[in-house]
Amino acid sequence: MSKTVRTTCPYCAVQCNFDLHLENGLAVKITPTKACPVAGGTVCKKGLASLSDLRHADRLTSPLLRVNGVLTPVSWEVAFTAFADRVRPVLERDPSRLGVFGSGALTNEKTYLLGKLARVAFGTPNIDYNGRFCMSSAATAMNRTFGLDRGLGFPLADIASSDLIVLFGANIAETLPPIMQFLKAARDRGAKIVNIDPRATPGLAQTQLAPFPGTDHLIAGLTLNLLNGWGRIRPAAPADGADEVLASVAHLTLEGVSKACGVPEAELLKLARLYAQAHRPLILSGRGPEQQVNGTDTVSTLINLAFLAGHFGKPGGGYGTLTGQGNGQGGREHGQKSDQLPGYRSVKDPADRAFMADFWGVREASLPGAGKSAQELFLACGTEIEALIVIGSNPAVSAPGSGVVRERLAALDFLVVIDFLPSETALMADLVLPGSMWAEEEGTTTNLEGRVQRRRKAMTAPGGAREDWRILCDLARAVGRGEKFAYPDFAALQTEFFASTQGGKADYSGLNAERLDGQTFQWPVLHAAHAGTPHPYFAPYATPDGRARLVAAPMTVPARAPLTLTTGRVASQYQSGTQSRRNPGLKGAPEVQLHPDTAREYGLSPGQPVHLQGPHGETVLPASVTPKIRPGVAFVAFHWPGSANELTSADLLDPHSRMPAFKSEGVTARPVPVQ
Ligand code: SF4
Repeated sequence: MSKTVRTTCPYCAVQCNFDLHLENGLAVKITPTKACPVAGGTVCKKGLASLSDLRHADRLTSPLLRVNGVLTPVSWEVAFTAFADRVRPVLERDPSRLGVFGSGALTNEKTYLLGKLARVAFGTPNIDYNGRFCMSSAATAMNRTFGLDRGLGFPLADIASSDLIVLFGANIAETLPPIMQFLKAARDRGAKIVNIDPRATPGLAQTQLAPFPGTDHLIAGLTLNLLNGWGRIRPAAPADGADEVLASVAHLTLEGVSKACGVPEAELLKLARLYAQAHRPLILSGRGPEQQVNGTDTVSTLINLAFLAGHFGKPGGGYGTLTGQGNGQGGREHGQKSDQLPGYRSVKDPADRAFMADFWGVREASLPGAGKSAQELFLACGTEIEALIVIGSNPAVSAPGSGVVRERLAALDFLVVIDFLPSETALMADLVLPGSMWAEEEGTTTNLEGRVQRRRKAMTAPGGAREDWRILCDLARAVGRGEKFAYPDFAALQTEFFASTQGGKADYSGLNAERLDGQTFQWPVLHAAHAGTPHPYFAPYATPDGRARLVAAPMTVPARAPLTLTTGRVASQYQSGTQSRRNPGLKGAPEVQLHPDTAREYGLSPGQPVHLQGPHGETVLPASVTPKIRPGVAFVAFHWPGSANELTSADLLDPHSRMPAFKSEGVTARPVPVQ
């Protein structure tokens, strides 16, 4: 029997729509749909290859319990009994000794349910997720200025009307390829595109600035100071902090910033002139400036520049951050962050706490407060954290200082992993619960422009694997706290989720499955007749007095190591590679990219094994020698065990967002003689 189901791709935050064709219950083909509001009929190679993941031979089809050191297939009954036997005593001793770790790949409903499970069933404050590793600095900066965090405060199509696009550390062509069509449309209308990145990543840029990693704030601060000198400051709306911001950059000179960033003065001046002359300049940032120890302050500086030059909230102009993970936007809105309740409410705000306590029918005092952020949670494993539940994430590869993180995971009394493939983290677990993949579940996801879309169930999970939402409810029941998790079906959970967001900053309460059938909506969607909000960043803002709060960031010049590591993604892989490394249609292998001058300095030739040493670990990778990276910088992608995160620091965090500094780590390199 044939059927076709329209759904969304899980492998990046664009969330392209496509039709999944099935024969006798098995997915056999993907065809892009022209009706897709974001990709307009295109699907990249990762999207096309996603088909073969669904019935991969490695799919987990039975719970696995570690017996005498070996992961052994068991029934679900035995699995839940083991869970209860190990977790109940922890909860009785001290619920905060149980940790929960989620994922930006989870649907909005699972995000909501995981937060409710942690706080209502288990009573632990210690829940966080892997979005802390990729989005938290930009989110923190947007929140502190506007009281709101929607990565792109405009439809992607607005990009086409920009007349200058400045990319800070955003490798769009490789990581979010459908967005290139909007950049191309802008360029075809005469827009200029500037790429600021220590690597000359592919794309349409006519101008490339290659600064030292970690110096983006100085470039933005200098541009702002030059604009001020040229009389080009025209705040977009009433704001606090403008004078302090301008004072904080007043000392920046072309000469000083050129020296600190390693970018010629002429290029810095050209950028500032282009920005001053543009009518609708758009700054887009990716993980380059954000995954830094000063990531939040750097994004604040980008916001300050766009705001004080009068371009924030202007269609085609302003600032936006490009979320990466499959549900990177929705995953950060609905309660799996250590400081957050559903609807982007704050776990510290008395009114928000009172709303959710009432909604869940619990005492407000019983709701835990803020817990440990992601990396702090891992570093506490084996000491303050005795047991940990991980869903949809692979921190043994993706967490910074992954060797240290693996040691901490190994020190746990009990590690539970819910996943659909045996990731490196699952293989360390005491209990593995086989969950569902994207085509095997209903739900909603929210793309990088805040567009809420339906994910549709097309097929059932193989063997004994179950839908994740059912597993989470069963975990509550296993420890005798299932009364608030007795959903008769998924629709009941979804209805509760939408209602939970009412009055929150990310308000989805005007949505239901029927409205989302064939339509998409950018949040907030306030009631059943509301069309959504394409442009949420217009004054008055979501701050208590409606004014923007500009934050003056320290213009510190970072210390520079002789060789600086920067990390990132490649086009053919997704996250820690649990799916994409297994996919025969997706190639790639880890390597270290170095400039020819750097290779010469360290005595390295192309293809030669290089021993790299970071602050908490080491690895050996083949050298890829290319002029497309600036001298003194080494690039390693993070999709493989033994790659970038062996070298990143385990404990260097941005103080505002608690995002680890994945980039700008000093490393050493030496050739490994080939036998
Ligand atoms: Fe679209 Fe991203 Fe999926 Fe590629 S990986 S098809 S760009 S959603």
